[in-house]
Amino acid sequence: MPTTDLKRLLKQHFGYDEFRPGQEPIISNALAGRHGLVVMPTGGGKSLCYQLPALARGGLTLVVSPLIALMKDQVDSLRANGISAEFLNSSLDNATAARAERRAQAGEVSLLYAAPERVSMPGFRRFLHTLDLRLIAIDEAHCISEWGHDFRPDYRILSELRTEFPETPMMALTATATERVRRDIVEQLALTDCSEFVSGFDRTNLTYRVLPRAGAWESLLALLEERRGQSAIVYCFSRRETEELADRLTASGHPTLAYHAGLDADTRRITQERFIDGEVPIVAATIAFGMGIDKPDIRLVVHYTLPKSIEGYYQETGRAGRDDLPSDCVLFFSDGDQRKHDFFINRIVDDDLQYAARQQLQQMVDYGRLQSCRRKYLLAYFGDTIPSAEGGCGNCDVCLAERRSVDVTVVAQKLLSAVIRTGERFGIGHVNQVLLGSNVARVKELGHDKLSVFGIVDDYDRNGLRDVANGLVERGLLARTDGQYPTVSVTPMGREWLQSRQTLTLDMRADQPATQRKRHEDRGAGRTSGGASAQDYDAALFEQLRALRRRLADDEGVPAFVVFSDATLRGIAAAKPADRQAMLRVSGVGPTKLERYGEAFLRVIREHSNGARQSSHPAGEMANPPQINESQAHTLRMLKQGLSIAEIANQRGLAQGTILAHVERIALAGMEIDAASLLPLPEKAERISAAIATSEDGRLAPIKQLLGDEFTYDEIRLVRLALNVKKRRGE
Ligand code: ADP
Ligand code: ZN
Repeated sequence: MPTTDLKRLLKQHFGYDEFRPGQEPIISNALAGRHGLVVMPTGGGKSLCYQLPALARGGLTLVVSPLIALMKDQVDSLRANGISAEFLNSSLDNATAARAERRAQAGEVSLLYAAPERVSMPGFRRFLHTLDLRLIAIDEAHCISEWGHDFRPDYRILSELRTEFPETPMMALTATATERVRRDIVEQLALTDCSEFVSGFDRTNLTYRVLPRAGAWESLLALLEERRGQSAIVYCFSRRETEELADRLTASGHPTLAYHAGLDADTRRITQERFIDGEVPIVAATIAFGMGIDKPDIRLVVHYTLPKSIEGYYQETGRAGRDDLPSDCVLFFSDGDQRKHDFFINRIVDDDLQYAARQQLQQMVDYGRLQSCRRKYLLAYFGDTIPSAEGGCGNCDVCLAERRSVDVTVVAQKLLSAVIRTGERFGIGHVNQVLLGSNVARVKELGHDKLSVFGIVDDYDRNGLRDVANGLVERGLLARTDGQYPTVSVTPMGREWLQSRQTLTLDMRADQPATQRKRHEDRGAGRTSGGASAQDYDAALFEQLRALRRRLADDEGVPAFVVFSDATLRGIAAAKPADRQAMLRVSGVGPTKLERYGEAFLRVIREHSNGARQSSHPAGEMANPPQINESQAHTLRMLKQGLSIAEIANQRGLAQGTILAHVERIALAGMEIDAASLLPLPEKAERISAAIATSEDGRLAPIKQLLGDEFTYDEIRLVRLALNVKKRRGE
């Protein structure tokens, strides 16, 4: 299919104007009916690679995905774009599953998501044979390999799909790139004659930074303050640490939830949901948090403690900025940090494994100490390089830092002397404490407060001294041992220099967080592919658009990003479209979303431009009742035939939430509907009314929280609707 046609489909179905790097050839390959192996980093845009062919090829595409928690969000996102999708997994009751199956058989479903255990049931495969199956996508395909980090025995059965559907092209997708895993996938799935697409691992929109452990708490607060209301994950070492940090952050005005494997399943699920919904922006978590997190607008991933390996670190930071907007990955680090891991590593019985674990940890420590481009180091780990390697990446703290030549002669002499005086048996941290005249007990116990070098530095702080020490290591004047407790010693070259009394200048980082941040934003924006972020957008308008998105998402019971991504909102806030035509030109706005949300957004933009104060109330309380559109009129006709909301949703292939939104619109437009007949049981309705009465702004989430799990969003909305209708009638 020619590029222009593919792009037309991209806009029509997903609202995007351009393909991300690598997507187009993968899509063309699938359209040509060939198998494909797709290796792309997290956030690269893998889903679109099979979603677009699914629509272009017609018939049904089966998507096998191990992450049950994600299926619903994926399906919601597709439906928001007007694409007919269903999922089948153990979370569905029988009736719902049966209905999805019937729709698939009737040819009404373009994408069907299923968990591998479902695929392993012979009954399900018989069912597949009754469908017009045109493409099979295997998400997280590395799960098939024992060499991967996430082997799932269930995945082995997928090879049978190949034998049972030999003519159907298959696409295997993963973010795990090792050659061994790749070969294994191709072999296990018998993908003969398969095209392989391995895209670069660089995530150009992510800024990598390492900050000193000293002052980590204050730095963390500052990072979160700069990003108020935006999503962040703070990875911690232990369960206890996540809980302590969550409490502390919450107490400091940054509402945070803890997440770790020790919490019960319900708490974990609810925490995930509240994070994905954007209701609680910050989660302090162990690495147990992440697999099911497909949130596109995470702006910050912090590692509060040292991770075990580069591989894990890269994966965890990869969760930031999937929407391609500039996002930050921060590691807090000090030289002694690896000690926290020793206890666990020492308990590994197998010698080889223990050795491997130490190696991996050492690589992480090297990363923390690195004085050259961090991105280059990370990518090299995966056998990848940055295109313009010479100048560095321009988007990590090392590359961004302004450097200036500083005469460090005096402080370097003091430092080397202190290393010698303390016997060359200590880490740089201890030496610095001596130089700074610290009164910690250990310095006293060792008698180091009696040394002539005690307290002789007052023009550098701990971090400054550390920088100087790093510079001396790089110059070969100071040597640092590897291992668990790195100590420093003065090299022969260092002794020679001390004698010579020559001047020494070092290229030192002039760290000014403010300028750094500004530069990175300029840079990050210029590098992203979503054009909108490169423009100036109206931040005040953006906030209003976010608030509107929140309400719409709330009303439909879906995560905010299902309505529009941050990137799209920025695009809207930059373009300020005045009409539907102009709005459709924004990347991320397709015909379906335009129809569904266009008017609401255009109204906010108009009011903003008129300088009118934006009402913080739901659309319904505005002066002019809105008109209903064609789709809502359709719903009204069906309501009048006496169909329930669930039935209408079913027949029309729309989410119940969408139908409910229609009903609300219809009621707001002042048209007669029999809201009472749609209500839940009276005793439930009463409790809901009571909860609504306690709410100030009528927002659903707090009401739902008050009521608990027995009540659904839909029920609450219906009662709210009935109350509004009553109020209007003056009852
Ligand atoms: P992956 O599965 O590779 O981690 P996703 O498929 O979840 O990544 O895509 C990440 C984000 O990028 C999603 O929010 C998706 O909507 C967005 N995206 C994908 N393709 C494009 C595109 N061509 N233009 C703009 N955004 C895109
Ligand atoms: Zn760099």
